[in-house]
Amino acid sequence: MPLGVSIIFSGSGAWQQTGGRPLFAEVGMAEDVNQETPIPEEENGSEFEIPEELRGQVTITTLDKLYNWGRRNSVWPMMFGLACCAIEMICVAASRYDFSRFGMEVMRPSPRQSDLMIVSGTVTKKMIPQIVRLYNQMPEPKYVLAMGACASGGGPFKEGYNVVSGVDKFVPVDVYVPGCPPTPQALLHGLITLQEKIDKQSIQSVRWYSKQASEPIPIPILGPDLIDPRDLPDFAERQAAVEEKAAAEAKT
Ligand code: SF4
Repeated sequence: MPLGVSIIFSGSGAWQQTGGRPLFAEVGMAEDVNQETPIPEEENGSEFEIPEELRGQVTITTLDKLYNWGRRNSVWPMMFGLACCAIEMICVAASRYDFSRFGMEVMRPSPRQSDLMIVSGTVTKKMIPQIVRLYNQMPEPKYVLAMGACASGGGPFKEGYNVVSGVDKFVPVDVYVPGCPPTPQALLHGLITLQEKIDKQSIQSVRWYSKQASEPIPIPILGPDLIDPRDLPDFAERQAAVEEKAAAEAKT
């Protein structure tokens, strides 16, 4: 059997628990398995033919689809909010919008149990070291959603003395949701966009299965101003250039 192809047997107890309804309708089990109509070969989604007598009990899919199907429907967000956008995020968790429909209702108070960081609000220079630390503590696979104008680019406080001009300057952002604040529907759309991104990932190329371990992001240093440790070599280079220039001027 080639890599990436798996067979799901659904003629088990689980099948009976669902009252004969297909468990994996999305990956090729047609809704009409309870009917007499055979599944057309092209809907199978693979080059393998299912024998007539097994149709309705066996379906064929890829490991990628199966793996992503499980992950996309159990994205647990981290439970934290930063500013006004957090109120909209809370609305999405409440009954009217209810993101438990997407398997996301288990908001975790610990980064070690979270898959998704929703950055919902203004990112201040005082807060960004904590955000980066929390991101580093999340296990792979992990995703970041920048919710609203502030998290995406500073928003109305852009270039403010105490505000970071976008959380993507420090952590990799997967989905941006525009608005000030974004509506709950917009956040839902962002979460569905993230699910679509997960659908497109392949088990053979995702970074968390690569041979090299993920490097943690250096924690920014907050002093009189915010310093990104990744910029320190640049600072040293610029300082050396200034000193060199001053020495040349002193000689002349
Ligand atoms: S984007 Fe608007 S609503 Fe959201 S945190 Fe910033 S100011 Fe508040």
